[in-house]
Amino acid sequence: MTRNYVFIFMVFFLIISGFLVQEGYADRGRPYYEETGEVVWDIKTEDKIVALTFDDGPHPKYTAAVLDLLAKYDAKATFFIIGKNAEKYPELVLRSYTEGHELANHTYTHPFKVSIKKLQEELQKTNDTIYSITG
Ligand SMILES: [Zn+2]
Repeated sequence: MTRNYVFIFMVFFLIISGFLVQEGYADRGRPYYEETGEVVWDIKTEDKIVALTFDDGPHPKYTAAVLDLLAKYDAKATFFIIGKNAEKYPELVLRSYTEGHELANHTYTHPFKVSIKKLQEELQKTNDTIYSITG
């Protein structure tokens, strides 16, 4: 149960804000990983870096434009994929993956209030969809 809440928090944290990794951030008492060791909270670095994240895709118009721009600047991003959109535009999911971007699960239908059981189903269905596209 805790893992689900951690995952949900992480997804919303990344979606709403993106995140800025600041020098020494993890040294202020927070571990680099959450308790299961599967989610990275911080990365120790001396550099000031920004992680780019895009959610609710793939979108037939905007995702391709974002991918073109990222390629132009040789930048990588994380795309939070909605499963039902992935089924409509699998070529954009595959392009994102083959161009070296990270794909993340943003549920199947993007519900705002669901039970844990329904949320697990949403996440699993999206995992299956992304896997079927990317292998
Ligand atoms: Zn969203």
